[in-house]
Amino acid sequence: MGFDYDITVLGGGPGGYVAAIRAAQEGKKVCLIERANVGGVCLNEGCIPTKTLLKSAGVYRDILHSADFGVEGVNLSGVKVSMPKLQQRRKTVIDRLVGGVKGLLKANKVTVVEASARFTDAHTVAAGDKSITSEYFIVATGSNVLIPPFIALEGKNNVLTSKEALLLEEIPKTTVIIGGGVIGIEFAYLLNTLGGKVIVIELMDNILPMVDEEVSSIARKRLEKDGVTIRTGARVKKVSDNNVFYEYDGTEHSASADAVIMAVGRVPNTEGLDAEKAGVEFNKNAIAVDELLRTNIKNIYAVGDVNGKVMLAHTASHEGIAAVENIYGGSVKVDYNKIPSCIYIEPEVSCIGMTEKQARERYGDVKVGKFPMAANGKSLTAGDTDGMVKVVVDGRLGEILGVHICGNHVTEMISEISLAMNLEATIDEIIATIHPHPTVSESIPEAFMASYGKAIHFK
Ligand code: NAD
Repeated sequence: MGFDYDITVLGGGPGGYVAAIRAAQEGKKVCLIERANVGGVCLNEGCIPTKTLLKSAGVYRDILHSADFGVEGVNLSGVKVSMPKLQQRRKTVIDRLVGGVKGLLKANKVTVVEASARFTDAHTVAAGDKSITSEYFIVATGSNVLIPPFIALEGKNNVLTSKEALLLEEIPKTTVIIGGGVIGIEFAYLLNTLGGKVIVIELMDNILPMVDEEVSSIARKRLEKDGVTIRTGARVKKVSDNNVFYEYDGTEHSASADAVIMAVGRVPNTEGLDAEKAGVEFNKNAIAVDELLRTNIKNIYAVGDVNGKVMLAHTASHEGIAAVENIYGGSVKVDYNKIPSCIYIEPEVSCIGMTEKQARERYGDVKVGKFPMAANGKSLTAGDTDGMVKVVVDGRLGEILGVHICGNHVTEMISEISLAMNLEATIDEIIATIHPHPTVSESIPEAFMASYGKAIHFK
């Protein structure tokens, strides 16, 4: 039986559009179905818009601190942020990138259908008034913000998700952020830098739970020094008339706010997809896939947030390419232990692999090396010496198990470690690699040398 397409991709985010382009490059006839803008949450209401607003916050902050760098004559009383102008810039950046993705899809001859797709059987979807048949499907419908059932909402509240928080036309006087994960902490930095009062309430003992606690505590101290109030080990139970009620140390507390940001995670987008009509099985609320990203139905694959593995744009894109290769005979397995994470506050945070605690539990024999940014020349010239590189290494073989960094521009530095881990490099190979001077990245070989007590620039 002939199908309309070789591959149909459902969802045009970083998982879906990348899969569609790669499939087209392989000479396949490809359809992409997207109900909103291509680019998904990442481009339209996630990574890119937040980073655009964070850039403005950074510029504002630099101007306020310009005297520290010997710049005179700036009339600080006249310096203010125009939220409407920030929002205009956000839209301009998004439009440019969405336009770029559309252009790429067109240049690769991917047919784009603007509609919501739902399965009618394993080889057919309904998209608007069209019925589209396809030999293979890649489901890449992403995720949505979680409004958790375990937090009661009573009375009249101004509860925002990250989606609405990105559109703010003015900074709320006081914002309570529920959840000290990546979204919560990036908004805490943003709103605080732009002049709001921010209180973060996090359930775990540390903010940014995926980051080694010694490194995340540097970020925490800096946020607190800059004025953010952070409560950890605190469970939010209820929001009532803009008062956030939480349990801390066995007693009930509350914090009142002009706005409350809910940042306690995201859920896979499967509503309305009718995946069960194609026979697709779920793992809790995510589409279940095996290590080759196949669902239980042999012609249907699922990539990105919807498969519930790791909710990061770069993981989705990587999975998108892997799924296409696997459809056509490949056996690409994504190594979920080697996925970098970046947090765009100041100083930045990035990490990959295990924390020291996880590594000790798993391997016992581990070595740890640390190098403080205060001993790094480039960080000193930038006037930002808060932070460190912390490396976690297998004690017997010198295998890199995890690297956690806090410091100036360190989100640009973690790729070196991703490459090294991907190539299964040992610490000797990193140390033997000449790093340019002066750079913040010099602190990486220093931290590895510190793991056996021989850092040059730190005792
Ligand atoms: P998250 O899972 O990273 O963090 C949610 C936090 O909420 C957790 O730390 C959790 O302990 C806390 N929490 C849960 N229930 C609570 C309660 N009742 N009271 C207080 N705290 C509670 O989720 P997120 O920050 O919403 O991010 C969602 C996804 O998006 C994540 O997978 C994240 O990695 C991804 N993301 C990544 C980036 C980035 O890489 N820069 C940016 C934004 C989002």
